[in-house]
Amino acid sequence: MVLTLVEHDSGAVDDNSLEALTLAREVAADAGEALEVIAFGPEAGGIADEVGAHGAEVVNVVDHVDLDDYAPEAYARAVIQCAKETGTEAVMAPGTDRGSEILAHAGAKLGETMAAEVTAVDVGDTYELTRQRWGGTLIEHSDLDADTNLLTVAPNEVSASETGDGPAAVSEFTPELEDSDLRVQLTEVEESDVEGVPLAEARVVVSGGRGTDGDFSEIEAFADYLPNTAVGSSRAAVNEGWRPHDDQIGQTGNKIAPEIYIACGISGAVQHMVGCKGAENILAVNTDPEAAIIQKADWAVTADLHEVLPAVTDELENRGHS
Ligand SMILES: Cc1cc2nc3c(=O)[nH]c(=O)nc-3n(C[C@H](O)[C@H](O)[C@H](O)COP(=O)(O)OP(=O)(O)OC[C@H]3O[C@@H](n4cnc5c(N)ncnc54)[C@H](O)[C@@H]3O)c2cc1C
Repeated sequence: MVLTLVEHDSGAVDDNSLEALTLAREVAADAGEALEVIAFGPEAGGIADEVGAHGAEVVNVVDHVDLDDYAPEAYARAVIQCAKETGTEAVMAPGTDRGSEILAHAGAKLGETMAAEVTAVDVGDTYELTRQRWGGTLIEHSDLDADTNLLTVAPNEVSASETGDGPAAVSEFTPELEDSDLRVQLTEVEESDVEGVPLAEARVVVSGGRGTDGDFSEIEAFADYLPNTAVGSSRAAVNEGWRPHDDQIGQTGNKIAPEIYIACGISGAVQHMVGCKGAENILAVNTDPEAAIIQKADWAVTADLHEVLPAVTDELENRGHS
């Protein structure tokens, strides 16, 4: 059996989990195994339709009084026990913060290798993996041959697809936890004070870096004229205290996949590009024609962002866009 960890928000499945489930479906088919899902929280049963439509036969809903909120080691314990009980040969998870953390703990508890950022699996005597290293700047081919193969799927690299199957069967699973599994638990969620379209869902992201000199008003005014648009930033802008960390794009920030990414006053460091390589198109605005981002962009405007953005915003206003 191939077991996939699925994250959800009140029963709505996270996109990266559907991508992981799609790759897991291919692995299960190649290995001649069944495909099941494990999900946490009182509303996890609500994902049955969506994961069923993506090929899962069963949702194992973890039902435990201590696990309604996130607890990484306890979640890992539950995944391991469920995997053992169902005779699992592979556990797959989305390469999100939580998916990666849970599978890393599962690997440590089992004494097994965990392979991160996988983009393809060829099932033979071993699992032949293609996976990303160094923020996607290096592609590695490796073999994984463990009693339980643990792998996370690189976000935004696999296209989620449906099979059209009906709902998955719901099965409750109650793990046996040790006190030490609950050393780390979520106790409070602080809502971000960032308003507007979430970066992960935006069709357009307009981002600013050190080249803004801390003035994001032109970026915000421009973004306001575009539908379904979010404002992002480089880490330099976050480090300067100009933007909250929630806005950061990159290796240590958000990974985004908009239709257009408009990077203003951003040099295009590799750690930044890791976060926006899922964008369909990149437009760079930069005064330096030699900036790395100009080489990586689909379109570039070599000019001062403080001149370009107000001019474009004025033009949109004159044309009656709002
Ligand atoms: C472990 C690690 C993790 C990291 N993670 C991230 C990450 O998640 N995200 C991230 O962004 N960075 C990350 N970094 C930092 C990264 O290496 C760069 O330092 C950072 O991205 C630079 O930000 P920047 O492009 O805004 O600034 P700079 O590199 O200083 O570039 C500013 C650019 O603005 C241009 N410019 C200046 N004035 C104007 C103007 N008026 N109009 C138009 N253009 C102008 C300049 O030509 C220049 O290209 C990480 C680094 C490390 C070591």
